[in-house]
Amino acid sequence: QKQIGDSSTKGKILMATVKGDVHDIGKNIVGVVLSCNNYEIMDLGVMVPVDKILETAIREKVDIIGLSGLITPSLDEMVDVAKEMQRRGLNFPLLIGGATTSKLHTAIKIEPQYDRAPVVHVLDASRSVAVVSSLLSKDQVSREIFVQKTKAEYVQVRKARLERENNKAYVSIKKAREQKFAIDWQTYNPPVPKWLGNKVLKNYSLEEISEYIDWTPFFSSWQLTGKYPAIFQDAVVGVEARKLFLDAQSLLRRIIDEKWIEAEAVIGLFKANSVGDDDIELYGEDDQLITTLHHLRQQREKSAGLPYMCLSDFVAPKSTGKTDYLGAFAVTTGIGIEERAKKLEEANDDYHAIMLKSLADRMAEAFTECLHHKMRTEWWAYVDESLTNEEMISEQYQGIRPAPGYPACPDHLEKRTLFDLLQADQHIQMKLTESMAMYPASSVSGWYFSHPESKYFGLGNIGKDQVEDYSIRKNQDIRITEKWLAPILNYDAN
Ligand code: SAH
Repeated sequence: QKQIGDSSTKGKILMATVKGDVHDIGKNIVGVVLSCNNYEIMDLGVMVPVDKILETAIREKVDIIGLSGLITPSLDEMVDVAKEMQRRGLNFPLLIGGATTSKLHTAIKIEPQYDRAPVVHVLDASRSVAVVSSLLSKDQVSREIFVQKTKAEYVQVRKARLERENNKAYVSIKKAREQKFAIDWQTYNPPVPKWLGNKVLKNYSLEEISEYIDWTPFFSSWQLTGKYPAIFQDAVVGVEARKLFLDAQSLLRRIIDEKWIEAEAVIGLFKANSVGDDDIELYGEDDQLITTLHHLRQQREKSAGLPYMCLSDFVAPKSTGKTDYLGAFAVTTGIGIEERAKKLEEANDDYHAIMLKSLADRMAEAFTECLHHKMRTEWWAYVDESLTNEEMISEQYQGIRPAPGYPACPDHLEKRTLFDLLQADQHIQMKLTESMAMYPASSVSGWYFSHPESKYFGLGNIGKDQVEDYSIRKNQDIRITEKWLAPILNYDAN
């Protein structure tokens, strides 16, 4: 790695995961790739406030600022950074990267806020070198060509988006509710769990968890595309994938044997009913209301007869008089990881630092899979099951575990309700940042639905009538709702 002040570098790049976000695997890979290409990287780490980013950039005279983020609230934070750069009259080129970022979002929300220097979305680490070298090219003409080409592309993206939006039809929330996903509750008897309330799990066996690992996303986190285990036969990435997998196996062995990380979880099972169409009430054993979960319903117009989905459709309505149930979970395998990763980074072993983080992420998903399995077969015990790991990974079981912030329930603020319900912050070492990212990284949380017809869907964009109704149901200022749901509004809230 190049040292600060080394004049042989081709340019200095500041990189940071924005405030409220804790994820940095992608950013770290980009950092390694760029420094292998002779760029000097100033990595400010995760959860970095805008002031720190800009003050460091000015003080260190960097050539480019790169922002990274994984969860949707980070998109908003990046918009704020761009606005602040404009306000302060800065002129650093701005790179945007990370899992939920996109060319679309960069073109629509970020670039219009900052016209003093180029704003470029960088799809992945392999693209980053080409983008950075174009931006820092000594050849003014080729630099200008790249900048203008990108600008023109973003103008095009905005135009296409506007046309698409104008052609999309939405139904009113009232009509959507009239055509909800219909389940025959008369003939259905909700399965009764073996226990109710919260259960805290600490020091869960890492060995047992590791048996549930889904390896395919491990390779994509390293930007190798292909399904495990077929990826080993791939003509392009096969050899690299094998090497990576062998290294992963030996590090995983050490993580487990030497207990580098700790696995903790809180899971809960509650009496539940859907009420007033889109909400779900949870009750204690004494039938007292514990909390209300608020969900959103699809509004994009569909062909006649197709239902407008909402997760509440999968829980028996209170009016049926039947007691249904809902589960909840918050799991982490990120405890202890930061110190370990830091040691590796200090020893300039970026490879194993990134490997450790990507394995811890895999373990968190595996732990989730493991507990969902137990939920279905032992705790809620609504099925007998004999699925292979592959069958489980391809979700061939009954029931779902949607996660707040994901397509069926994109409101990250519902994670606060989930964490309060499970008392996750008290029972285990897991908390939420101001952007509702789970801390430490390598954490997963969500709801368990057991109904055989429950399935994942994407909410899509929603209309102002629903946003107003939702704000009233949540007793929340509509501007707050619009801020958190910004990526899915079908109208311009400003
Ligand atoms: N085997 C994968 C599992 C994670 S991805 C892995 O190891 O990475 C699948 C998970 O994402 C689901 O279990 C669910 O929690 C969440 N998810 C997927 N689609 C969703 C949707 N439409 N709405 C909400 N959550 C969803």
